[in-house]
Amino acid sequence: MAKPRIIIVGAGFGGLAAAKALRKTPAKIILIDRTNHHLFQPLLYQVATSVLTPSQIATPIRSILRNQKNTTVIMGEVTGVDKDQKCVIVSDAGRQNVPIAYDYLILATGASHSYFGHNEFAEYAPGLKSLADAEAARNKILQAFELAEAEEDPARHQDLLTFVLVGAGPTGVEMGAALAILVRTALKSDFRRIDPASTRIVLVDVAPKVLGSFSENLSKAAKQRLEKLGVEVRLGHSVDHIDAEGVVIAGERIPSKTVIWTAGVAPSPAGRWLNAQTDRAGRVRIQKDLTVPGHSEIFVVGDTASLDQNGKPLPGVAQVAMQQGRYAGKLIHSRIIGSPPPRPFSYFDKGSMAVVGKGFAVLQSGKVQVSGFGAWLTWAAVHLQFLATPSLRFGVFLQWAWTYVTEQRCDRLIVNHHGSDVAKPAPDSPVRATFAGR
Ligand SMILES: Cc1cc2nc3c(=O)[nH]c(=O)nc-3n(C[C@H](O)[C@H](O)[C@H](O)COP(=O)(O)OP(=O)(O)OC[C@H]3O[C@@H](n4cnc5c(N)ncnc54)[C@H](O)[C@@H]3O)c2cc1C
Repeated sequence: MAKPRIIIVGAGFGGLAAAKALRKTPAKIILIDRTNHHLFQPLLYQVATSVLTPSQIATPIRSILRNQKNTTVIMGEVTGVDKDQKCVIVSDAGRQNVPIAYDYLILATGASHSYFGHNEFAEYAPGLKSLADAEAARNKILQAFELAEAEEDPARHQDLLTFVLVGAGPTGVEMGAALAILVRTALKSDFRRIDPASTRIVLVDVAPKVLGSFSENLSKAAKQRLEKLGVEVRLGHSVDHIDAEGVVIAGERIPSKTVIWTAGVAPSPAGRWLNAQTDRAGRVRIQKDLTVPGHSEIFVVGDTASLDQNGKPLPGVAQVAMQQGRYAGKLIHSRIIGSPPPRPFSYFDKGSMAVVGKGFAVLQSGKVQVSGFGAWLTWAAVHLQFLATPSLRFGVFLQWAWTYVTEQRCDRLIVNHHGSDVAKPAPDSPVRATFAGR
């Protein structure tokens, strides 16, 4: 009898965990991802702020699964699912809309940015979700210093050296703190016309506190730490407008050439592909066994799935995606080999952490709430543990130790890819000369 075919779409935290859980399953597994790498998104901000290189937080998917003989990796973009014919529709650089049949399907396609209905902001306030986003943000940040140094009129320096981060969740807080340290340490002696330490970093959120999902005390501790590092925290105000000249917050214009979107996320279009019920955010509503109602062969996991536990929706975090991916893999395995299925899925919350600059983090796990150096050490250990390979763990550990001691950043190159116009000032730009990025 032909082996059953399992298609997993997405090799992020959920999809990869599912593939690994199926390593001993007598099946043909096809893992499809639009990129060739598994990305450790929690450290994207460290690429954007020059702490780590892209290759230190991402690993080729086929190298992670090279010893898993039942699994084939395909780089392609899934654009739809035909539930009746049981196939996914895939396009890649060479072929369009190729159907690939499945017996079981796991959709783990994650999320992208949400501009809360203001998609026009995207042009001026790029988000941070992929390696390309992180490199673009790094280019933009470093480019701002180059433009300011090349500008002879000091009156123009302040706009160039004002960075605005929109969204004070973990990404905005971590990024704001890392930027503050970058400008006061690694960049401090490198320029002659500008003082990088005079950089203004504004972190803005409509919510009344930073790190909304953390307790009041930890949120306060994180805010105090940010302010100590020189980050201006503006809470309780939404961003009314973003354009090439900056942002407007509660009627006040903050001139800035570098705005980064660290706010909301929107799920992948999996709900539309399946024509399934979704929650208000667009995440596919799944059952306790992670399948889509009426389709026991289709599983949806991670950021693109919506499941309530104890009356509350599970958060879009890596732990949920990994535990769900593992569960979906185990359930399919049990069905194929005819063993009893696992009990309904239940998320085990190990806690949340956010790092706020060098040697300081906040950690919340059940009743435990800690902030400071101990929390930072725990944060570092946990993140190292969850990197995809031993070589990444070792490399990142060494890099962090080096950065901690020397305060230098490893990757401060501005690499504008062909066709990018980041390095070119607009035709009517007041900036007269820059040689950066050439
Ligand atoms: C900047 C940032 C910081 C974060 N920090 C933390 C943190 O500190 N702790 C934490 O727990 N969580 C954090 N998260 C959230 C966490 O990364 C996500 O919850 C987790 O990645 C979700 O896993 P997933 O498998 O659902 O999706 P992802 O990990 O996003 O994987 C989705 C995969 O699907 C692929 N894909 C998408 N669409 C298609 C398609 N149409 N065709 C083919 N492939 C496709 C993508 O290329 C990707 O590889 C952070 C997220 C971001 C963006």
